[in-house]
Amino acid sequence: MSDDDALRIYRGKRHFDATPEPQGASGPDRGDALSFVVQIHDARRMHFDFRLEVDGVLKSWAVPKGPSAVPRDKRLAVPTEDHPLEYRDFEGLIADGEYGAGTVIVWDEGTYRPLSHDRRGRPVPFGQSLERGHATFRLDGRKLHGEYALTRFHGGGDSSEPEAWLLIKAKEKSAARAGRTAQGGARAADHGSPDPRRARSVRTGRTLRQVADSAGQHDGP
Ligand code: MN
Repeated sequence: MSDDDALRIYRGKRHFDATPEPQGASGPDRGDALSFVVQIHDARRMHFDFRLEVDGVLKSWAVPKGPSAVPRDKRLAVPTEDHPLEYRDFEGLIADGEYGAGTVIVWDEGTYRPLSHDRRGRPVPFGQSLERGHATFRLDGRKLHGEYALTRFHGGGDSSEPEAWLLIKAKEKSAARAGRTAQGGARAADHGSPDPRRARSVRTGRTLRQVADSAGQHDGP
């Protein structure tokens, strides 16, 4: 699939003369490491956007409560259209009346490593894992770390129903890691999910409010 096809839905929803979001140049990757980003989007409904680089685009899920650092917290994740890789850099204000109107901050970013294997222990291409509805991966972000799984529990395949997935942190199995982080895995400060209105951009340290205020003061169309 060409990147143009992959981003057709993304581009069709937006007016690039009216939104500061990237159009998507569908250029080459920045390197071998696969990137992920988690943005907080203060749209009609506040949500987190969880995005993984797969085959040249950002596969995307809207996660209303945000990813949890606590193993076995089940977080609803609803797929949204593929976004261009450059979207991982986007922080700003989408104007009223435009698709996804509201403020976006980059809450976390980093790289990830696919972990899915078949029954014989061979690695499965990540895109294929997602098509099958279950993918495991290790995040190495500034805030999120460790193994997570995305699992489809509704829709997909031949179904015409909308897809729904769960994003779940895996319980750490490694003895070395368990020793370092002690009983329960995550430290107290890592528990649960952040309050989106207090959370700060990993890029600029700003809150949603601060990004919205500065965009309101300085931005033209
Ligand atoms: Mn969003």
